[in-house]
Amino acid sequence: MEKSIKEIIAEGGVICELCGQRMLKADGCTCSEIKSNGKIYKRIKFGEDPLDIDERCHDCHTSIGHYHHINCDAETCPVCGEQLISCDCDIEFIENK
Ligand SMILES: [Zn+2]
Ligand SMILES: [Zn+2]
Ligand SMILES: [Zn+2]
Repeated sequence: MEKSIKEIIAEGGVICELCGQRMLKADGCTCSEIKSNGKIYKRIKFGEDPLDIDERCHDCHTSIGHYHHINCDAETCPVCGEQLISCDCDIEFIENK
């Protein structure tokens, strides 16, 4: 059975596929780099974009100075500078375990 939004929030939000943490409880994602066409790029943290004026990301709930969680619509692509979830870059997240 599908969980209701209320139940998911009570648990601390959805689990990020990258860091395995609950998005509403974690300060931010632990994944710091992405790979595109064989090159490594540092992900852009929440707060590094002048448009980030809130204390927490409206979408993935990361806090200032931390990385966004997966599939966040506010993350900027470090390769092209566009919105990461909608740009055409070939991106692979590097999980640091
Ligand atoms: Zn995460
Ligand atoms: Zn975010
Ligand atoms: Zn891109």
